[in-house]
Amino acid sequence: MGVERLAEDGIFDRPVKTVEDLLNKIRKYLPNADLSLITRAYSFSEKAHTGQFRRSGEPYIAHPLSVAAILADLRLDLESIVTGLLHDTVEDTYVTLEDVRREFGDTVALLVDGVTKISQIKFRNSVEKQGENIRKMIVAMGRDVRVVLVKLADRLHNMRTLNHMPYEKQAQIALETLEIYCPLAGRMGIMSLKVELEDLCFRYYRPDHYYQLVQHVKKTEHDTDRFIGEVRDKIAESLERSNVKFEIYGRSKHLWSIYKKMQSRNIEYEQVYDVLAFRVIVSNVSECYEVLGHIHAMWKPIPGRFKDFIAMPKANNYQSLHTTVIGPGGERVEIQIRTRDKIGRAHV
Ligand code: MN
Repeated sequence: MGVERLAEDGIFDRPVKTVEDLLNKIRKYLPNADLSLITRAYSFSEKAHTGQFRRSGEPYIAHPLSVAAILADLRLDLESIVTGLLHDTVEDTYVTLEDVRREFGDTVALLVDGVTKISQIKFRNSVEKQGENIRKMIVAMGRDVRVVLVKLADRLHNMRTLNHMPYEKQAQIALETLEIYCPLAGRMGIMSLKVELEDLCFRYYRPDHYYQLVQHVKKTEHDTDRFIGEVRDKIAESLERSNVKFEIYGRSKHLWSIYKKMQSRNIEYEQVYDVLAFRVIVSNVSECYEVLGHIHAMWKPIPGRFKDFIAMPKANNYQSLHTTVIGPGGERVEIQIRTRDKIGRAHV
């Protein structure tokens, strides 16, 4: 049990420093793959970016390497990761698309070209133009969805390192990300990426409100832990007579979603009750329904909030039931009941 928070609640591991770190990440989910392609793409990119630096002062290769690592965290295929390593070479170095095609083949060349084209799109900065922006993005991605995945990973790393940008640019980039890339990540169903992007955008777009909310969340941490303990004990109690073994995790929802709720209802943090979300993990599908039965017997479910991803699985195949109930103290509590994910990832 524990309270997970902010970016730590993502699927993303610690930053990578070397190509060896990247290879280790890939080996975890593609144990039999021939990784010489990755090493070759890394050397190619490192050579092309020689003499270029990030605003942080690091050699430029740190950026494509990090983008590739994000793609590996998403467990994407080798061609996507190679594209991550090469994505800025055609736009920013002497390397041509033909060079990429000769060295890495048609598919990677097509992907790199797609990412380069997205970078050249001039987005219109207003909510009404959002549909148009997304359309431009879809056109640029051509027939391969991996183009957008690489672009999203690129934007995530740029947002993670946004503190090195001049102050006036930070808010502008954060707003563009909020209007275009966050909804896009949502549409693609990559919630971990959307959540991390949104909180990063919040931090740079409305820094005063962001840090205020962080303070509030910190102050109430103690109550939050106690409440999580209470929910856990109640569920354990209700399952006492059955053989179900379960784990439960409670976490605060991400800051941007709490903030949006405060704004739309014009309320203070203390008045936002449903800031906590729980995840109950069991061994099999029948136990999911069993736990759900106990929870609904104990706490009244809120109509319209129940979703059955067992009967209608998501694309990633993970099986889970989502419900919102009136929990202890009359507080709304979101609960996901799910089987242990074979690859141990929650959101993608
Ligand atoms: Mn880039």
